[in-house]
Amino acid sequence: MRLVDSHCHLNMKELSATLETVLRSAREAGVLRLLVAGFDEPSSGEAVNLAKKYTGEGVFAAVGIHPHDAKACPGGEIPGSLAAWALDGRVVAIGETGLDFHYDHSPREVQGECFRQHIDLAVKLGKPLVVHVREAYDEALEILRGENADRCRGVIHCFAGEWRHAVKALDLGFFISFAGPVTFPRSSALREVAAKVPLDCLLCETDSPYLAPQPWRGKSNQPAYVTAIYEAIAAVRKIPAAELAEAVWQNAARLFGWEAGDV
Ligand SMILES: [Zn+2]
Ligand SMILES: [Zn+2]
Repeated sequence: MRLVDSHCHLNMKELSATLETVLRSAREAGVLRLLVAGFDEPSSGEAVNLAKKYTGEGVFAAVGIHPHDAKACPGGEIPGSLAAWALDGRVVAIGETGLDFHYDHSPREVQGECFRQHIDLAVKLGKPLVVHVREAYDEALEILRGENADRCRGVIHCFAGEWRHAVKALDLGFFISFAGPVTFPRSSALREVAAKVPLDCLLCETDSPYLAPQPWRGKSNQPAYVTAIYEAIAAVRKIPAAELAEAVWQNAARLFGWEAGDV
């Protein structure tokens, strides 16, 4: 089985400190492509560096400013470095960006403006968006719709919304990506969503080092653990994990523009 981890943070010290080991474990688990998401300017630059350094390991980058860090952007204005980095062929998406009303680390209007600017950049460059949403699904989907984000499409990463939110995202041509919470015992509502998302619109991710899936819950997460996400979703959909893995592989290739020769 060839697996994709569609969202991880090898650009964080929890993983970068032992990166060679982390990448070896990923490969041994069958994870052949990994997307490293930036969350502020330095981590976006680091994502690009990693994608260039570890081409043979299938590392790719997304560049963006997380809603937590939007406050560093005056008036929500995103740094010009993002657009410059995004021209690189190893940068396959813009993000992570979005809205996070759980922590409210940045003022909501600044988060919104920053999000709109990411959408604008993604449309201009013809690259998909990596969208982070927490306790702001209605608002985030309203912005995506209002900005006609179906022009760039993208993925709602670490999806934790309701089915009605998934439907709206799917209508805009967005993919739905599931992370560790889909394996948690109390997440039966989320698993029901994972069972219903069309197979050709579904992605799997770790969001490591956060949110380790069962049975590693509470520990530091890493891309190799994405196998548990595939198993949980395959079980709830009652299909072999290999069938799910191949579908996700094709989905990610379609969304991020990966071709057969890309490792
Ligand atoms: Zn996120
Ligand atoms: Zn993330």
